Amino acid sequence: MSTLKEECGVFGIYGHPEASNLTYLGLYSLQHRGQESAGIVTADGYALHAHRQMGLVTDIFNEEIINKLKGKNAIGHVRYSTAGSSDNKNTQPILVTFDKGELAIAHNGNLTNARTLRNELEQQGSIFQSTTDTEVIIHLIAKSQEEKLVNRIIYALNRCKGAYSLLFLTPENLVAARDPNGFRPLVIGKLGNSFVVASESCAFELIGAEYLREVEPGEIIVINENGLQSFKPFPEVKQSSCVFELIYFARPDSYLNNKSVYQVRKQLGKQLAREHPVEADVIVAVPDSGVPAAMGFSEELNIPNEMGLLRSHYIGRTFIEPQQSIRDFGVKLKLNAIKEVIKDKRVVIVDDSIVRGTTSRKIVKMVREAGAKEVHMRISSPPMKFSCFYGIDTPSREELIANSLSLDEINHYITSDSLGYLSIEGIQIAIENHKKYDEGESYCNACFTGNYTVEITDSKLNLKQLNLFQRKNI
Ligand code: AMP
Repeated sequence: MSTLKEECGVFGIYGHPEASNLTYLGLYSLQHRGQESAGIVTADGYALHAHRQMGLVTDIFNEEIINKLKGKNAIGHVRYSTAGSSDNKNTQPILVTFDKGELAIAHNGNLTNARTLRNELEQQGSIFQSTTDTEVIIHLIAKSQEEKLVNRIIYALNRCKGAYSLLFLTPENLVAARDPNGFRPLVIGKLGNSFVVASESCAFELIGAEYLREVEPGEIIVINENGLQSFKPFPEVKQSSCVFELIYFARPDSYLNNKSVYQVRKQLGKQLAREHPVEADVIVAVPDSGVPAAMGFSEELNIPNEMGLLRSHYIGRTFIEPQQSIRDFGVKLKLNAIKEVIKDKRVVIVDDSIVRGTTSRKIVKMVREAGAKEVHMRISSPPMKFSCFYGIDTPSREELIANSLSLDEINHYITSDSLGYLSIEGIQIAIENHKKYDEGESYCNACFTGNYTVEITDSKLNLKQLNLFQRKNI
């Protein structure tokens, strides 16, 4: 279920005759990370070629378009806006020509000082074409006095704060960069003699590429005809990869920080069951993201896990609702209860998170109407009390239900018989249970704790995240 939108996904490939086709497939596997727009830029050694559009990957590209995207190197992007408005001019990869030639860039993340940088650049005469924070990086690269591309990128990224997993493409180079905290994922693999880079390893599986490793936090990788070169130009800081990728965002068949997302989610469910056991007849997941946690919960308490909620995967943008409005039309379009599973049962609903609380409230109502005797809500993450400024689209703090209501009040609001959230320590236990922490491995949990590891410079300008660059007409 989703009331909010995901952020972005990136994919890149170097040295393959079918670069555009494979990028298309890579983006298809990353579609869960952004459904608003998608784009591919290819490089044929002389020039860059681009196709970008609003919509889903399979709607945007066809054989003719793919064939026109010539070259052995490519980068691609799927987008949901976390900064900048949602329209055509903000589609990525961004492609520019400057005095060093052509450059394309694809970004997953959110800079926390983009507004500050943009103000500064505009005062120096820069003109911006889009409202995305990503364009700031391009202006900084163009401004740099360095000769080599990688040094220009280092110059630019040294000025940027916050979250970025980036891919750059020039006629000769593919460059991957990950911010020093490693907020957003980025992995590298091989397909024959070609290198591939992607937000998540699930993109490698579809094209038959072999997973090599994570792009390390603070690492810049340059791939060109000389092979692969790795740079670590930034001062080392404590890693703070987004824990919510593990809880909700990433695809369960991906590996993050060398951990199976599916296995971690299952462990989150097991730990949740230890922390908040309940006597019940059936466990029901909120599909799709609640499924692995519900399996773990059921296994731990030895209570059957059944498909009591069905999700429709074919939701388009708008629906024509009959004039005589149907009760709970919106939620029923996405989810429906299977009465056979629920009737006369004590039901535990397992979901990965509560954001505004509206989904949970509707689900509890739906399950009661399907005849449940009791409805217990269990959430495989802690109460979400703080907004994310590092690339996940969460609403403002005021809209987060756990920011203003206590556990009892939320339980009352969503009308469940009981409510249990996983503890913050519980996340750590679940991750460790699956696989020991790698040395130095640590996670950003600011959405639960308010412990922001990178300063939010722009917030001093009193900005709402989604309106980063929107201005009144002047
Ligand atoms: P809400 O009605 O706002 O409480 O939404 C809770 C539901 O949204 C849960 O089922 C989550 O799986 C899902 N969810 C949580 N975070 C996000 C997000 N950033 N984007 C989209 N969906 C989300």
